[in-house]
Amino acid sequence: MNDSALLRTFLNEPAPPFIDRGEGIYLYTKNGEKLLDTTGGFTSHAILGWSQPSVLEAINEQAKKITHIDYKVFSDENREELATLLLSRAEHKLDRVYFAGGSGGEACEAAMKLSYQAHYDSGNKEKIWFISRKESYHGSSTDALAVSDRPNLSFYNPLFPKERAKIPEHNIYRDKRPEETLDDYARQSAKHLEDKILEIGPEKVCAFIGETIMGGLVGDVPPAPNYWKYVRAVCDRYNVHLILDEVLCGTGTTGKIYCIDWDGITPDFIFLGKTLGAGFMPLSAVVTCSAIEEKMRNGQGQVQHSTTHQGHSLSVAAALAVQKIIHDDSFLHDVQKKGEFLRNTLTNELGDHPFFADVRGRGLKNSLEYCCDDQHLFGLSLVNELRDKHSILISGKWHRVCFSPALTITMDELEYVLTTFINTFKEVAAGWNKKDKSTIKVKPFF
Ligand code: PMP
Repeated sequence: MNDSALLRTFLNEPAPPFIDRGEGIYLYTKNGEKLLDTTGGFTSHAILGWSQPSVLEAINEQAKKITHIDYKVFSDENREELATLLLSRAEHKLDRVYFAGGSGGEACEAAMKLSYQAHYDSGNKEKIWFISRKESYHGSSTDALAVSDRPNLSFYNPLFPKERAKIPEHNIYRDKRPEETLDDYARQSAKHLEDKILEIGPEKVCAFIGETIMGGLVGDVPPAPNYWKYVRAVCDRYNVHLILDEVLCGTGTTGKIYCIDWDGITPDFIFLGKTLGAGFMPLSAVVTCSAIEEKMRNGQGQVQHSTTHQGHSLSVAAALAVQKIIHDDSFLHDVQKKGEFLRNTLTNELGDHPFFADVRGRGLKNSLEYCCDDQHLFGLSLVNELRDKHSILISGKWHRVCFSPALTITMDELEYVLTTFINTFKEVAAGWNKKDKSTIKVKPFF
């Protein structure tokens, strides 16, 4: 029986740990434990850790003035400044920012609706199909989920619009055949998209949606070189918008402000979420371009999609302070350096281990894939051991461990995490195949 008034997520589990406070990359529980968090708050949002004085001050200063003024009918200098800042280091050519709401799912749906409105306002009203990839996740609202692919949520399928289609994931580690070159594989993946567009009918396809690096479900898989160039070319050929999801891999987490800037193309839309306000406040946005704006200006003359809390004034104030920290060349360089160190250390120390499959990622968004019997339990055992013996939180399940620590993690902290992880990996792996696994506790949280 549950003695709490709260409807919790995991209904058959005891209450998860109560957290008292956060400081740097550490969480302090009510029981007095100090936990080193490599998961960015479990959902990779806490990219600056928990204590950033300039962010807290910005929230306080804004709260003293006004907490929220409507996006449509009032201007807000912070919104202007944040939009300018978000475009200031972009290597792609997008030049407009639309604040969508608080969650990544809201931004996904905003991007889908802006995309459709731009087609509609150009006279292409039949373009109502969206294509996305298997093993994707774009949010939990109904249409964001309709373009996602999570087996445990497939019972919702009857709720989804019919005009949503999936093509295979793009995953060089899983799907590239040994005899295939990376370039062949990239072309083949783009061909899946082209075939699907032709099957549906190009006049009916609105947009293709994908995470720039495939994220949470498969574990930080960067695309093959030129993949996005080939996809861009297919989209251009059939007047299909390209919408990129950088909720997880945007705003400096990969060492560039936009992950797609590693791939050298300009999409039509990029949507951002949790990392914008870094958990200090919720904020999400769609980055797009003046060409899309022009279509809507000449059509209905206004963006028809809106929400009450879009561009929330407190959230924007927080996000501006967050992004001022991140939009700094030496900060971004540091993220790249720490990420390289992480990948190199794991490869050097575990590369020859029989359970090691690969390490991949960009900047400080990385995953290690392992291959052994009872893989899921192996990941959970790593989580349990690190949590119970070393007070380190990691995200390990299925076939991979994801590392998404705060970008502010110090080299000393990173070295400590990696050394402890590597030792634990070897210890848990020793005798794994013979081990009685019935005692391993499957917990959905730490
Ligand atoms: N896209 C990606 C790639 C995500 O990882 C997530 C959340 N994990 C979302 C979209 C949805 O964001 P939110 O939970 O804020 O709606």
